[in-house]
Amino acid sequence: MKKTYQICCLPGDGIGPEIIAEGKKVLDAVGARYGVTFACEDTLIGGAAIDACGNPLPDETLEAARAADAVLLASVGGPKWDTTDPAAPRPEQGLLKIRKELGLYTNLRPVQIFGALAGASTLRPEIIDGVDMMIVRELTGGLYFGRRERFYDEPGAGTDGAAGQRAYDTLEYREYEVERIARQAFEAARKRRGKVSSVDKANVLETSRMWREIVHRIGEAEYPDVELEDVLVDNAAMQLINRPASFDVVVTENMFGDILSDEAAQITGSLGMLASASLGDGVALYEPSHGSAPDIADQGIANPLAQILSVEMMLRYSFDMGEAADAVRAAVTVVLDEGWRTRDIADAETPAECVLGTAAMGDQVVAHL
Ligand code: NAD
Repeated sequence: MKKTYQICCLPGDGIGPEIIAEGKKVLDAVGARYGVTFACEDTLIGGAAIDACGNPLPDETLEAARAADAVLLASVGGPKWDTTDPAAPRPEQGLLKIRKELGLYTNLRPVQIFGALAGASTLRPEIIDGVDMMIVRELTGGLYFGRRERFYDEPGAGTDGAAGQRAYDTLEYREYEVERIARQAFEAARKRRGKVSSVDKANVLETSRMWREIVHRIGEAEYPDVELEDVLVDNAAMQLINRPASFDVVVTENMFGDILSDEAAQITGSLGMLASASLGDGVALYEPSHGSAPDIADQGIANPLAQILSVEMMLRYSFDMGEAADAVRAAVTVVLDEGWRTRDIADAETPAECVLGTAAMGDQVVAHL
């Protein structure tokens, strides 16, 4: 009997519905070729869910995600829901909550250069030659999940002597949280080039000093074959631009990872190409690294390749379908080598007939599968 996998699809906002349609197209094509059925069910998250029921992560969505074999997310957010009112619901809360509820403590972001797009980077070709790194970001702890509060009670700190505001966020980690993310990084390094760069701010932060101590303990005891270097986060921001090809696996705290992975994404020159996987001990979630691109929503011009490459990661990590995953990546590579582009990755030399819309780009990938 044909194997069936349940996929919980979360189109979200902005370009989300347009790009997830292309991800599903690829899943269908892979299913047909490898004798598997991917049963995709759409459900609400983010701004779309706020509009429907006032909650960025409705209970039904969480239940559907928990019951599925994998979650495919597009992106959430947009100016319609932007607010500085701490009491108002925001789309990103849906994202943070689903990560927390599903226990997705590891975010894997591969950063690789597609040869055909090397010219899109703002860095010189000799600097980006050979860039192939995996950023392992801790996703359910640290600064984004610590206690936070805002007060409106600071005497005389506001304008005209009125009461002013103060606010705090806390960065907290528990030993087991650092241990498990460290192990994920060392395991990833063993399957790659055997090097981990642990990024922290140990010269200032107590959490970082604990982080460093634990990462070294795990490394020395369990992964003596893996090379380990410590890099301070400010230095890491510089070295990513200076010597990006020297990084293999980069492991770091939640907010540091958020910022550094966007910087690393930029090395490739094409945010629309980068996927990510969020893994825990149960169902995993796959999504592009970019946001909901509200500036180009509903125009049919968004690049669906990061979403398609998140399907590649799903096949690899949730379904152990390495051959199918390789086929998806190969299809994307050939499409680019043949010169097909969406607008964001086209340049002055791209012939107009090679600039494709979202659906046509998805069709090209499927044709090459
Ligand atoms: P963004 O990634 O949405 O867009 C940045 C720029 O890249 C824009 O010019 C956009 O048009 C372009 N871009 C992004 N993805 C593209 C694609 N697939 N094809 C072509 N061009 C693409 O980041 P932003 O503008 O800072 O944020 C927009 C919204 O997305 C905000 O509400 C933000 O909170 C949200 N956001 C969501 C996620 C997520 O869902 N994981 C991540 C980041 C930002």
